[in-house]
Amino acid sequence: MSKQYDAIIIGAGIIGGAVGLELAKRGSRTLNIDKLPAAGYGSTSNTCAIIRFHYSTAEGVAMARESYYSWLDWPKHVGAPDEKGMAHYINTGCLVIKNEENDYLENVMAYLDDLKVAYRELGPKELAEFLPFVDTRQFGPPVLAEDPRFGQPTGGAIAGAIYVPESGFVNDPQLACHNQQRGCEARSGQFLFNAEVVEILNEDGRAAGVKLADGTEMLAPVVVNAAGPHSFKINRMAGVEDGMRIRTRALKREVCHVPAPKGLDFNLQGTIISDGDTGSYARPEVGNNLLVGSQDPECDAREWVDPDDYDQSFTVQWKTQVMRKAQRIPSLPIPEQQRGVVDLYDVSDDWIPIYDVSDLPGFYMAVGTSGNQFKNAPVVGKLMAELIGKVEAGHDHDNDPVQFNFAYTRRTCNVGFFSRLREVHQDSSYTVMG
Ligand SMILES: Cc1cc2nc3c(=O)[nH]c(=O)nc-3n(C[C@H](O)[C@H](O)[C@H](O)COP(=O)(O)OP(=O)(O)OC[C@H]3O[C@@H](n4cnc5c(N)ncnc54)[C@H](O)[C@@H]3O)c2cc1C
Repeated sequence: MSKQYDAIIIGAGIIGGAVGLELAKRGSRTLNIDKLPAAGYGSTSNTCAIIRFHYSTAEGVAMARESYYSWLDWPKHVGAPDEKGMAHYINTGCLVIKNEENDYLENVMAYLDDLKVAYRELGPKELAEFLPFVDTRQFGPPVLAEDPRFGQPTGGAIAGAIYVPESGFVNDPQLACHNQQRGCEARSGQFLFNAEVVEILNEDGRAAGVKLADGTEMLAPVVVNAAGPHSFKINRMAGVEDGMRIRTRALKREVCHVPAPKGLDFNLQGTIISDGDTGSYARPEVGNNLLVGSQDPECDAREWVDPDDYDQSFTVQWKTQVMRKAQRIPSLPIPEQQRGVVDLYDVSDDWIPIYDVSDLPGFYMAVGTSGNQFKNAPVVGKLMAELIGKVEAGHDHDNDPVQFNFAYTRRTCNVGFFSRLREVHQDSSYTVMG
């Protein structure tokens, strides 16, 4: 038994769903296939879903800003009702600490200025007045918990910070995936769950569909790899990995779920705190809790894993992260009981995603999201649909990169920036910050 579609998308996470939605909006008969039971059950289910604008590259900032408008206007972006309700954007603001590593945010502020994103610069004294629960001393560069210097101030005050009031997070990332599914189905899209892709079909030197674990073949002239942390396995299946200068791997990550300091309503008085000086980030979470994650400081080991076989328990990293955040918020409790999530990033060699064609005609990839692309999914869907449309109409993207126009911020994105054939982007942070 085989069925014919215009495009098959492997994965129904936030990225695969976004690609399916935008292709369906353009009239394609799409099929998203996922081996899990529902949309957004992969790594998207554990995302912190933070929407922030500070990236190390102008392109990163522009993608985040452009996507922001779709999150604000989510029901219209999806364009169809969902019986489960709609995900929504929660505005919290974001404090970003200046340090040597991020060049004291000089570039970031220039990119924000260029896009007219509002922010406020705060010196340590103003910061202490603005967020009285914050310790403004410098603790970095971060070290491991066993280092005698851990938790000790390393100088005077931090260099300052910026506060970006429009930042926030999406309340329910899994629901956002379900919304995308409903939006896609309302056009001509279909979803198939509990179905594992085991082979990329190849006919006359181009992608022709996929084979599932039960032997079923699904046929389409376009196949998109949106398999998240499994992206490298799918690229290997398609035989395109050798043709990539930038590749992807799966990285284990832990996010801690801790109560807010006593007497502090963190959802009202707190904000997202992105802090390279302590190597940690945090965001408010419902029930007056905080989610605390790592900003991947250089001293920490990076645990590259097989996404089908890795230890999903917390490690010493959990307590280290909370203790790092407690350097900035001294009243933060450090609970004995470890709560939170363990999941995977799909990391590219320079921590910047790959949105591209491949050496196999008809086979595309939206991969390498490197722990920082949930927020950009609405634009990624549009950009991939544009790329696929142009290339299928005969455009040679590798030699003449597709230019994509952002609807809201009215600028042009050179899709070649995300090429698998690029040299590593030197201005990347080589961390989750992108
Ligand atoms: C802990 C954590 C925190 C994060 N925090 C943020 C944040 O605050 N802000 C932000 O912007 N980004 C964040 N990210 C990153 C963001 O969540 C990811 O970039 C995004 O969710 C990736 O989506 P995806 O659709 O590519 O992957 P996934 O959601 O993993 O979807 C891929 C899907 O492919 C399916 N699949 C794989 N192989 C096969 C196969 N052979 N056959 C069929 N199906 C297959 C999987 O089952 C899966 O459902 C975070 C990520 C993590 C893990």
